[in-house]
Amino acid sequence: MLYSIMINTRDLTIKGTLELLKKKEISVEELVSSCLNIIESKNPEINAVLTVNENALDEAQQFSNLTPLRPRLREGAAISQFNNKPLLGIPIILKDAYSTKGLRTTAASKVLENYIPPFDATVVKKLKEAGAIILGKANMDAWAHGSSGENSDFGPTKNPYDLSRTPGGSSSGSAAALAAGMSLASTGTDTGGSIRLPASFTNLVGLKPTYGRVSRYGIIAMGSSFDSIGHFTKDVYDNALILSVTAGHDSLDGTTSKLDVPKYHLKLETSMRGKKIGIVKEFTHSGIDSKVDEVTQKTIKTMERLGGEFIEVSLPHVEYAIETYYILVPAEVSSNLGRMTGTRFGKGRELFGDEAKRRIMIGTYTLSSGYYDAYYNKALKVRTRIKQDFDQAFEKVDALLCPVSPTLPFKLGEKANDPLAMYLSDIFVAPMNLAGVPALSVPAGSVEGLPVGIQFVTKQFDEQLLYQVAYAYEQARGPIENLKINT
Ligand code: GLN
Repeated sequence: MLYSIMINTRDLTIKGTLELLKKKEISVEELVSSCLNIIESKNPEINAVLTVNENALDEAQQFSNLTPLRPRLREGAAISQFNNKPLLGIPIILKDAYSTKGLRTTAASKVLENYIPPFDATVVKKLKEAGAIILGKANMDAWAHGSSGENSDFGPTKNPYDLSRTPGGSSSGSAAALAAGMSLASTGTDTGGSIRLPASFTNLVGLKPTYGRVSRYGIIAMGSSFDSIGHFTKDVYDNALILSVTAGHDSLDGTTSKLDVPKYHLKLETSMRGKKIGIVKEFTHSGIDSKVDEVTQKTIKTMERLGGEFIEVSLPHVEYAIETYYILVPAEVSSNLGRMTGTRFGKGRELFGDEAKRRIMIGTYTLSSGYYDAYYNKALKVRTRIKQDFDQAFEKVDALLCPVSPTLPFKLGEKANDPLAMYLSDIFVAPMNLAGVPALSVPAGSVEGLPVGIQFVTKQFDEQLLYQVAYAYEQARGPIENLKINT
């Protein structure tokens, strides 16, 4: 036990915690200690965290000095600290693909087992400047390749709602850690669903921002034209608050947009009356688990009650999304992993796991002369079509609503030996990465004690509307019953 007071971090939002800190009902030190205690006691079971930041408590103590309990005089000063630092004292866990200065960063691969970056990723820098305390690094599928966390070289992460099941992947540890109360928010990367799928499987809000909205600098690359840098929170407000901190142009990432970053969390209320919401015709096929579909139907009813108008839209090329994704992403993977030669970072490439090797081989093949036009070039053309499909849909509707996963959180081992079955978990999430649009997974219900999320999608750079629609839904949805953390 690091500290005698235990705060129930599982039920705390960032917003609620900031209130408690401002009123001095809790201290940053108590908060961080409580999270560290949960990591210490629950991580052996869940395997969500690979590396703990040993300095976290020291950092927390510095903040505790800034918020003294006594003098009224300094109360104003303490409050203005919160204004300058919107995440002051908030414990965050980062996916282990985020470079952290002086803190081991492995991407869950043995190749980087001992790698200690000499710099922070831009997002990490921004979070620290906003006052967040980095507690540690989360387990993941190695190099972010996967949908279940089972490709980690450090063992799979377990779903806190049912330890025999996956929390989803590839940001498996980030989701499981937050659900279990090890932090108040966590970060992930979403190249083809790796934030939204685990968010859906662990009852969290997970954002895949527009490609180029958040800097990729210092994030270990998977597919550079797909990688979207987002995060997990317990509710929509918290999610919007973090994006207000992390988004924006970065001279170190030439693909980041110069568009202004709104304070998303301050403009969440808006009427759904007359808002047009699209149901994607191609996503209503029979491959969906009927119980997951029931949750989707219930969500549609809730949005209709709020005044939303539903329209069927067609994205005719999304039926090729998985094939297109699994040509283009491995091509980019094979190029990005080429730097892991053992001379500059970490250990030798003989330590690559099966999935990384599979992707390097597929990618090298589709990029090789003679096959380039047949595969890579053709897939690029389909990608453009898919992007146009989304553009056309957003001429008719404000947002799309669709499932996140076609199935409930599956059993560990269920799909581990069948890469194709695993790839199909991404049918409702990968298309958004091909199109570069923002998408949010929001808790929507439970089936047999397992969480089920729903996905909202808007056009590029309209995260504000995305959050507004999701917030309206979240307010109307009511509490989700029959969910219990089992650890
Ligand atoms: N499941 C997808 C894949 O394996 C998504 C990965 C991701 O978003 N990082 O490629």
